[in-house]
Amino acid sequence: TDLLLDLTIRTFKDSGHTFGISYDITHISQLEKLQNDFIGNISHELKTPITSLIGFTETLLDGAKEDPQTLESFLKIMQKDAYRLQGLVQEIIETSKSASLDYIITSVNVSELIDKIMRSYDTIIDEKELDVQLKQPQNLVLNTKVELFQPICKNLIENAIHYASDKGKIIITFYEKEKEFVFSVQDDGIGIRPQEQERIFERFYRVDKARSRNSGGNGLGLAIVKDYSRMLGGNVTLDSYPGIGSTFTVTLPIL
Ligand code: ADP
Repeated sequence: TDLLLDLTIRTFKDSGHTFGISYDITHISQLEKLQNDFIGNISHELKTPITSLIGFTETLLDGAKEDPQTLESFLKIMQKDAYRLQGLVQEIIETSKSASLDYIITSVNVSELIDKIMRSYDTIIDEKELDVQLKQPQNLVLNTKVELFQPICKNLIENAIHYASDKGKIIITFYEKEKEFVFSVQDDGIGIRPQEQERIFERFYRVDKARSRNSGGNGLGLAIVKDYSRMLGGNVTLDSYPGIGSTFTVTLPIL
């Protein structure tokens, strides 16, 4: 397993991608720390499905495959592990792309961008019968690095949709105020306990691992929101009450 892991990490390194996120060379030691943390965390995350895949393959080859029921149930677990690895690898590639940082500032029509993101969640919004409202006082054009801004919006909206209760309400708001751009996503879902509120911004941290995993989550979304908001010179805050809901607010300086 360690060999495979080592190989995986080396393959990413060889492909020219770097781990971690930063855009300013003066933050080099901070970048190194981020990279080390990221490699440590990702190694741990990759190990679990790989160990599971190896274990189940060996058991099947040792004879368990002769029983059709066992074969089927093991294959289903192995399929889940494979999807999980696929998701992690995808995230690593996305994260590492953002480390090559020369993004250009362009004008982004915020409501068009959000509409586009929302359309990719149409099915789940229908299934959960969610009421999603977009509140925008002005039709805003934001000058920003869209490669960083888009994932911020996408991750917050995706989480609100996942963690909202059935028939719940989601309110997406954005506006400009005193040289700042404010974007917030409010849901009336399960909420987050005070002691978890800092931790959910850590890479791979999930309040309820099983639930999050079933919903396809990998615990990177909010770390990306936090990092990218900082890279754009802003920050993200959270206001949340268990059983009532959560509001994530990103504030960015207007460039
Ligand atoms: P994940 O891929 O697990 O959603 P994130 O980094 O996006 O990873 O979120 C980390 C954890 O924070 C989630 O697993 C979940 O426990 C919690 N969380 C995130 N957004 C919400 C929300 N809107 N409501 C309740 N819990 C949330």
